Amino acid sequence: MLKRYLLAPGPTPVPSEVLLAMAMPIIHHRSPDFLPVLDSAKKGLQWLYQTKNDVLILCSTGTGGMVGSVNNFFSPGDKVITINGGKFGERWTKICQAYGLKVKEILVEWGYAVRLEDVENALKKDPAIKGVFVQASETSTGVYHDIKALASIVGRFENTILVVDAISALVAHDLRMDEWGIDVLIGGSQKGLMLPPGLAFVGISEKAWRFADNAKCPKFYFNFKKERDALAKNQTNFTSPVTLIIGLNESIKLLQREGLQNAFKRHAKLAAATRAAVNAIGLELFSKESPSNAVTAICAPPGIDGQAIYKNLREKYGITAAGGQGGAKGKIFRIAHLGYADMFDVITAIAGVEMVLKGMGHPVKLGTGVAVAEEMLMEDR
Ligand SMILES: *Cc1c(COP(=O)(O)O)cnc(C)c1O
Repeated sequence: MLKRYLLAPGPTPVPSEVLLAMAMPIIHHRSPDFLPVLDSAKKGLQWLYQTKNDVLILCSTGTGGMVGSVNNFFSPGDKVITINGGKFGERWTKICQAYGLKVKEILVEWGYAVRLEDVENALKKDPAIKGVFVQASETSTGVYHDIKALASIVGRFENTILVVDAISALVAHDLRMDEWGIDVLIGGSQKGLMLPPGLAFVGISEKAWRFADNAKCPKFYFNFKKERDALAKNQTNFTSPVTLIIGLNESIKLLQREGLQNAFKRHAKLAAATRAAVNAIGLELFSKESPSNAVTAICAPPGIDGQAIYKNLREKYGITAAGGQGGAKGKIFRIAHLGYADMFDVITAIAGVEMVLKGMGHPVKLGTGVAVAEEMLMEDR
């Protein structure tokens, strides 16, 4: 028997409390049984998003939230900036182009964070730019873009909104929607929220709602105004994903018990221990700056295929991590410490990496990284 460990940056493990809550019989989404469930989810999401704004609940994966955040706020021909520093930044470009927006890409070398002056200069040069699209945590490279600073830059431009894909960052990074002035903040269920795939969340500022009034892109399934009106009545526009929303309430309850700042601290600590352990084994981080607290991207040692490390972790040791995407395929592998993750997930991951590398003939002294991780994780205990 091989016990399985899910250490991928989505889907992530689901706590038993949440699984049990989702075992409830189905209730009808238009019945009085469901209204308090959605009301509670709505309030819980506002707590998580640190906002008084509406946070829509969509029945889709995270990408649905991204698509809706393009066609509900913009019109064909609108000029926008996408910050493309990885696979998910590239997705912003593709979605915007699919709806006929005029995209100026700010290309960021993989492994680096966007240079703030590049965004500021682009906006100053062309005040007609209506939107800036970015990832909080670029999952393909393990880099965190400075959302607070970007919100402060974009906030100075009346005619521009900041759209943040925080699908992998939510719960792992402190993202203060109202205080920082983030206009659109997108989350997904199967990452930090410890749920199965199937829900997207979109927080929307008043400024962004004004953009929605003039947006001419075609829309039907993702119609944010209709969702807002439904939400006001504790409903969703179409059939509610009842089971997932019941699970959402349970996972928010777990996070509230921990405390939001404590959840951020936990992720920061797990991420720091992972990075230090990886370095102790003699491996290099793929993120050259501003590493994400959700996922660590690690360069495969010279001569060793990153995909083979990822495959061996799963096949020999039951650990499902992640390989590289796009241009980084084969060069890196990735370990998540996201959602329902604690110190022994890090130790498991690092032990697995040491064993796999040694098995592949790479010189590594077993326990080197584990010892470093243990030291760091023991602090404050
Ligand atoms: C997981 C993820 C998504 C969404 O992926 P789905 O498969 O649609 O859930 C988008 N952006 C980032 C940064 C992600 O990590």
